[in-house]
Amino acid sequence: MCRVCLKRPEIPDERYGRCESCAKNGRVAFRFRLGRDRSGDGLVVRAGELSPRALRQKWREPLAAFKGQAAAKPHLGLHEMELITARDRLESVRMAQDLAAHADEALAALRAAAERTDGAW
Ligand SMILES: [Zn+2]
Repeated sequence: MCRVCLKRPEIPDERYGRCESCAKNGRVAFRFRLGRDRSGDGLVVRAGELSPRALRQKWREPLAAFKGQAAAKPHLGLHEMELITARDRLESVRMAQDLAAHADEALAALRAAAERTDGAW
C-alpha cells in the first residue's frame, strides 16, 4: 500500500513506497517517532526518516507556518508522526492515536526538532 495516500498499491521498490500518482505529484511521507523528554512531562522527537538538520533546512518554516490540525491515523504505531509533503509544500501532519490527546504538544515537539542542527537524532 502507498505510504502517502494509503489507498493505492505502491510501485515495487519505489524509494518512498509510493503509488504512481503520489510519485508523480512529488508527495512524500516522512515518519518520526516521539518519546517522553527527560523530565517525563514533555514530548521530544527521538528518531526520524529525516535528520534534524535536513528537517530544519527544508521544513522548519513550513512547520512554523502550519495552521492545520494533525489527524490521528490508525496505521501509525505508538508515538509515531508523519509529515506529508508535496514538493516544497507541507500538506498535512498525521499522528498515532495515542498522540491525538496531546496533538498540540506533539506538533510543538516536531517544531522544536526542526530548530536542531544535529546530523543525527
Ligand atoms: Zn499514493
